[in-house]
Amino acid sequence: MSAKVLTIGEILVEIVSTRKGSGFLEPQPLIGPFPSGAPAIFIDQVSRLETPTAIISRVGDDDFGRLNLKRLAADGVDISAVTIAAGEATGSAFVRYRQDGGRAYVFNIAHSACGRLSATAAGERLLGESGHLHLVGSALSAPGIRELALNALETIKAQGGTLSFDPNLRPELTHASGISAALDTVLDHTDLFLPSGEELFLFSRAKGEESAVSELLERGVGEIVLKRGAAGASYFSRRKRCDVSAIAVPETDPTGAGDCFAGAFVSFWLRRAAPEVALYYANAAGARAVTRQGPMEGASTRLQLDTFLRQNMYRGSGSDGTER
Ligand code: ATP
Ligand code: MG
Repeated sequence: MSAKVLTIGEILVEIVSTRKGSGFLEPQPLIGPFPSGAPAIFIDQVSRLETPTAIISRVGDDDFGRLNLKRLAADGVDISAVTIAAGEATGSAFVRYRQDGGRAYVFNIAHSACGRLSATAAGERLLGESGHLHLVGSALSAPGIRELALNALETIKAQGGTLSFDPNLRPELTHASGISAALDTVLDHTDLFLPSGEELFLFSRAKGEESAVSELLERGVGEIVLKRGAAGASYFSRRKRCDVSAIAVPETDPTGAGDCFAGAFVSFWLRRAAPEVALYYANAAGARAVTRQGPMEGASTRLQLDTFLRQNMYRGSGSDGTER
């Protein structure tokens, strides 16, 4: 496989409160900046698994942008279509964990450099070189990103490529106008859908998991991978279902687990690994990610995943499988 995996969307820094509690209404110790942005974390994970990758985005000419671009380039992501915009600021996300495990965010995406994304010659060239596009719902909350992402989707599909989609919806972002129509359009073209928990029910009137899955498969979604946090994950297609239980690990920072999981799954899926194999490695990528502070810090190489699986009493199959 030589065609690139492409993503379009936000590049952010993440700044995390080191003290659990409710929001940001009083001074508190913070740690960061960490490289972040769901599309950026995803693409970094795909690249660490040695699949060719690229990202279309926009950052400011500032340290927040530089630290992200340095990381992505070091991990092998093609950043030639990331515009560095003088006089604009790189996006950011401040996050604080609540005692109950919930999260409060303050995002700066739509009004940051990446929110002003527009078509560029470098982006057009990358589209032509790409065989797979990954989109996340958080990116669709910014109008500039949304328009470019929907156009890219048409191009990738017209040239015979595939699409994966992770709703990755944060309550702080779902009020953005036009987002639900965009999510529906993306779902209509989705080959591989990667919702987390309740996101399975975003596009369905069904109450139960099985009926929601059937509805989505009937609607034309090819394959579904449901992420269940510390309860593991499940895979569904018309022909098959398989499940994996989570690997027991101490949870240091759960943010980014879903993107690392998706990046690993897509990387194995594009190599035509059996779903069990893709799920096995994605589950390990998600679990390893939560043991590291910082959303992109836990993205893994194949060697790191095999070592992690061995240390956690899982036997690696060593096989990429052939069919799904
Ligand atoms: P994100 O915060 O990045 O958006 P998400 O909600 O999309 O995350 P999760 O379901 O939290 O995704 O995590 C993705 C996968 O990572 C899970 O399906 C599981 O395989 C693994 N994982 C997540 N949390 C844990 C945990 N505490 N222990 C072990 N594995 C975990
Ligand atoms: Mg997510």
